[in-house]
Amino acid sequence: MTHSAPPPAPLTGPEISALDRRHVWHPYAPHPDPAGALPVAGAAGTRIRLADGRELVDGMSSWWAAVHGYNHPVLNRAARRQLDAMSHVMFGGLTHEPAVRLARRLAGLAPGDLSHVFFCDSGSVSVEVAVKMALQYWHSRGRPAKHRLLTWRGGYHGDTWQAMSLSDPDNSMHHLWAPLLPRHVFAGLPPAGFDAPVDEAYADHLARTVAGHADELAAVIVEPVVQGAGGMRFHQPAYLRILRELCDRHGVLLVFDEIATGFGRTGQMFAAGHAGVVPDIMCVGKALTGGYLTLAATLCTSRVAEGIAAGEHPQLNHGPTYMANPLACAVAEASLELLTQGDWAGRVAAIGDRLATALKPAAGLPHVREVRTLGAIAVVETDRPVDVARASRAALAEGVWLRPYREMIYAMPPYVSSDEDLELIARAMCAAAEAAGED
Ligand SMILES: *Cc1c(COP(=O)(O)O)cnc(C)c1O
Repeated sequence: MTHSAPPPAPLTGPEISALDRRHVWHPYAPHPDPAGALPVAGAAGTRIRLADGRELVDGMSSWWAAVHGYNHPVLNRAARRQLDAMSHVMFGGLTHEPAVRLARRLAGLAPGDLSHVFFCDSGSVSVEVAVKMALQYWHSRGRPAKHRLLTWRGGYHGDTWQAMSLSDPDNSMHHLWAPLLPRHVFAGLPPAGFDAPVDEAYADHLARTVAGHADELAAVIVEPVVQGAGGMRFHQPAYLRILRELCDRHGVLLVFDEIATGFGRTGQMFAAGHAGVVPDIMCVGKALTGGYLTLAATLCTSRVAEGIAAGEHPQLNHGPTYMANPLACAVAEASLELLTQGDWAGRVAAIGDRLATALKPAAGLPHVREVRTLGAIAVVETDRPVDVARASRAALAEGVWLRPYREMIYAMPPYVSSDEDLELIARAMCAAAEAAGED
């Protein structure tokens, strides 16, 4: 074993593609995938460089995560510094500076007294932990019958078992497992529109559904304001206040899944801020490390933490091997410092304005049902499922990376995107929408 062995010769793009097809599964895809995947050689700022030399403007922030763009010098420095100290130690019985610093910062950024932090390795796991916390809270209080959750339709909470069971039962990709999933309570789809007036009939429906199941409900869980992978739908924040009141009245915990919406994406640090509501439990992930490493967290209030601690089984039996990975925590701390030091709110608003203006032409295209923007999120919804390969090709021809799904051609660009980047992204979304309308 030598420390100076030369690195292996780099693979060519075609070699990467061949090995990929042979050995590697991709998300939500068959294996091998006839559509294939584009080999990436590098990424910096808002640009993704493909192995064939093409450079693409990133419209996706790598699924909401890379808010500062790629290869950021500040995040690189934080990662290198932590790598030289230690990349990981187990979290059972040990702790470290990156974890406590990050927990302090999350507690400071989060609304209310969500000051108790359980670190997890992915968003889906943070949802599992949130469910476990909610159930254990009621178990500790001597109310084990409160073991179900209520959510509204159109949601997406991840791909693990409880997370799947809380995602939309029809339009999520999990309907195959419906007969095997835990049965939770579903309210109807929240009425669309961030600015839409409150639909009193829907508010009544929520009230009746919560009241009708209160004895068996541990918690209500929703994505606040923006339902992401379930359909990129926006709703009126007042429904969150309604849920908060109903939960308080009926003794039910309120969980917000801020995995996609957290860290500024919707124009508030957390989407809960649009409603001025504090949940009892909150999940964060995705942009937490600025898109560098996988890390998520489940935050809860003192009431929940103390309730569990006072129970017959005070320990929360959950402990991912890589819990509070120091490398991920150090990068997350640096990423949140970068975010809070900068004018993230101004940037997010400017991105939304720019995309809304540049996407005006898309609203007039045949087969486009609606164009909507909120914060640094833009959606062109078509009246038919998008042919992903064709729409992606159209975006690639404009030099932009988009990843449409179902009827959604959408973008959530890095906050550092320039006006030119945003013009290109909007043009690519229009091109993808036009391609989607061709028969
Ligand atoms: C992405 C996402 C998840 C799952 O997070 P992973 O890190 O992919 O497991 C859960 N909830 C919401 C709202 C998400 O957007």
